[in-house]
Amino acid sequence: MTDSPKASPDCDVAAGAPAAPMTRLAHAGRLDGSPFVNPPVIHASTVLFDSVAQMKGKSATPARYTYGRRGTPTSDSLEGLITEIEGAVGTVFTPSGASACALGLMSVVGAGDHVLVMDGVYGPTRNACEGVLKRFGVETTYFDTHVGAGIVDLVRPNTRAVFLESPASLTFEMPDVPAITTALDGLGDTRPVVLMDNTWATPLYFAPLAHGVDVSIMAATKYVVGHSDALIGTLACGPRAWKQVKTTHGDLGMWTGPDDMYLALRGARTMAVRLAQHQRSALAIARWLETRPEVARVLHPALPSHPDHAIWKRDFTGASGLFSFELKPCSFEAVAAFLDGLELFGLGYSWGGFESLAILAEPAAIRTAVPWSATGPLVRLQIGLEDTDDLLADLARGLDRLAVQP
Ligand SMILES: *Cc1c(COP(=O)(O)O)cnc(C)c1O
Repeated sequence: MTDSPKASPDCDVAAGAPAAPMTRLAHAGRLDGSPFVNPPVIHASTVLFDSVAQMKGKSATPARYTYGRRGTPTSDSLEGLITEIEGAVGTVFTPSGASACALGLMSVVGAGDHVLVMDGVYGPTRNACEGVLKRFGVETTYFDTHVGAGIVDLVRPNTRAVFLESPASLTFEMPDVPAITTALDGLGDTRPVVLMDNTWATPLYFAPLAHGVDVSIMAATKYVVGHSDALIGTLACGPRAWKQVKTTHGDLGMWTGPDDMYLALRGARTMAVRLAQHQRSALAIARWLETRPEVARVLHPALPSHPDHAIWKRDFTGASGLFSFELKPCSFEAVAAFLDGLELFGLGYSWGGFESLAILAEPAAIRTAVPWSATGPLVRLQIGLEDTDDLLADLARGLDRLAVQP
């Protein structure tokens, strides 16, 4: 029998995080003294002060707000919620998940520094390393996702950051996060800052800060927003990195529009129930794909057949709705016939919304430490909130189309 996820959808408790996440999602981030359950959506640049003394910080009643890019009731509300569910010291928001990954790295490095980045990271994170970081004199080494405690052998005197993502984008390998952070702890004062892109699990299914990570990053665009209608990134920080991230965020003048912050807050209220459904449907579809003769292997960490299943089972309390599968070798025309004819799965980037999506994934071009050597095409599915039987029927018709192609 296949393993079911450890937590039932009604009692998910993220490892190491405070209990009762559904209650937290419903109540966190309310504004003190406001009778409304939701914050106002404040569109603001200018904030007025009572007096020049208050403006100059010389008043007995300091100003609560000073400028639109320095905080509003809307950002306070979202910040309160994300900080609480991440178990963080503080959180900043960026205009997208990609900018959150770049900001995290830019916050902790300078010219002449070195960073270690997991080979399986999201492509645009790699672009930030090879683009802006390289231009500013920062060198990147990509390491095998399965490096484990061997990470310390790669650390140089100028290594300032280690960047992880679990599971790997497109290919779903899982790094052993506690083995990596524990080994790095042995370096004492010279320990690099550990950043992790936790978009797939969200803090509901894996708590980075409770596993030795210093900066927990999400493309909140995905499951937090949940409706494919806004881009926003979050960096929830532990004590070792908060000051650097907060300062760099301010220095770069980064801000996120109030409507998008509000959409993230609104999405977060229902994230746990949506994730539970994404998890159920994705597992059912992944298991069904494993039985199909056209499929070489299914890359879903919650399946016992996954090479890193033991890591998932030990550290994660759930699986979300995104996974890949490798088809047996076939022509481009055959894969195209499969994908183009899908009626419920749209062909589109991003994921975490209510609608199902498919892409033809091509990891070979973005892996450098461990080449991607699969012989068949890789398809990534985002399982949305449609009825699972309808999605299965759509995929079954698709695989039938594939089978009749040369
Ligand atoms: C989509 C994604 C991002 C980037 O998010 P955007 O909001 O689209 O910029 C970052 N990391 C992962 C793992 C993602 O899937």
